Amino acid sequence: MKTPICDLCARTSALCSGCEEKLKGGKISDMDVTVSRLLHKLGETYNLSAADFYKAIDLERVVLILTHGDVGILIGREGKVVAEISTAVGKKVRIAEVSGDMRKTVSDIVMPARVLGINKVYKDGKEAYKVRFAKSELKQLPMDMGTLEKAMKQLFEADVVVAFE
Ligand SMILES: [Zn+2]
Repeated sequence: MKTPICDLCARTSALCSGCEEKLKGGKISDMDVTVSRLLHKLGETYNLSAADFYKAIDLERVVLILTHGDVGILIGREGKVVAEISTAVGKKVRIAEVSGDMRKTVSDIVMPARVLGINKVYKDGKEAYKVRFAKSELKQLPMDMGTLEKAMKQLFEADVVVAFE
């Protein structure tokens, strides 16, 4: 299993100096630490050896869990793994794959709503991303607009304009 903190830190309740430094420097978040430890614990019950947890994004009511691997591993059979994570953190959880194909990642996040397209645009003279959804699918989005915008900004690490057409 891969997590943003080292194996030892995921198995204990203390952080080594390397992981502590990453946390202080903002390279990883408290939620990354929490989810890493949780996954190690869940690994005793479920087969998570191939899990590749990259980053958790805490969006108040929803936590996005980004993985470099197969989304299905972290969802688990019949959604059991994701349900356990959700109960433990007390929030809704969405698992999304980060593979370089941003459209795929955004699609995982907004399911069952669909992504119409992602374009590079210029906003105030700076490069930004425009993520387009169908107006008719507004109600199918799993999170409110503010949360969605926040999620997209953290995901793209850039300014994002969410548009409905
Ligand atoms: Zn460590």
